[in-house]
Amino acid sequence: MNEEKIELIRQLSFFGIPVPQILALLYGFKPCSRLYSGIKNNNQKIQKIITRLGLKAAIAQDQPKVQGNFFFIGTNDLIIQKALFYEKVETKIKNQIMSSKAFYGNLRSYINFQLATLLGYPKCCIEFYLQTRPATNELLFFTTNATLNPEELDYRLNFLLNYDNCRGDIMGQKNLNCDSILYNNLFLIPHVPCSFDCQLSKKYAKSVVVLLKKYFPDYLKNIEHYLKKPFLFINDFEFLIFEGTVNKNILSYSDTIDSNNLFKKTWTNKIKEGNRLIKNENNFLVFKDNHLLHKINAKVEIFNFN
Ligand SMILES: [Zn+2]
Repeated sequence: MNEEKIELIRQLSFFGIPVPQILALLYGFKPCSRLYSGIKNNNQKIQKIITRLGLKAAIAQDQPKVQGNFFFIGTNDLIIQKALFYEKVETKIKNQIMSSKAFYGNLRSYINFQLATLLGYPKCCIEFYLQTRPATNELLFFTTNATLNPEELDYRLNFLLNYDNCRGDIMGQKNLNCDSILYNNLFLIPHVPCSFDCQLSKKYAKSVVVLLKKYFPDYLKNIEHYLKKPFLFINDFEFLIFEGTVNKNILSYSDTIDSNNLFKKTWTNKIKEGNRLIKNENNFLVFKDNHLLHKINAKVEIFNFN
């Protein structure tokens, strides 16, 4: 890859378009991507850069709740047209589900499967996602803690800082911070993995890491820095990131890191008062040195990606 391309990809990242996904498209790891730029009024600039990179782009459907735009970016026009078509059909079906859940639910799963395949997601992960998150239930909290064996938590599969997973209107709560770009795009894989040691996702992430190391070493360093942090985890929409270390059920920390998700702010404030956290089966305890400060009733996991 020449200097000019590296510079163009850098420019895209200023618009919120993640570097790893553009690399994946240019190097053929996936045929198409659905990417978000939260910075308004730059559609033409973004499309111009995409064209100069030899890729194709089209604006995906308007999402009234988000400020920026989603783009389908792909290697050729046919792929983009297919992606736009699947998305359009999916939206139509979504609105029909109330009248015939079973029929439209299955049809929607089918369309989502086609779209996810076009986006290059591993089959195991697509199936897991569709089974765990039924098409008829938009609001179900979703989690990938199928594997929480500390030996197997591969940082390259940590998708929790993926913008898309922190977005949306969940259980009636609007995530109003969703347009902050602070922790956007700090992820290597574009999809929700079926487990934190999914082999196909790992293979994909490894290939992206090789390219980042070669062309964007600083970017990689930044991503790795965040992906390896300890997490207090409830589900994909509620988690807290720490500066600290995990030892089994004990998390020792110096601070928490703000990110875009629905973790309760009142809990974050309580946690910030302490420096050690112990997880029990149905609650967790917040300590400052040896003094117990708070007992919070919630079923959580604490872990650290390796
Ligand atoms: Zn998988």
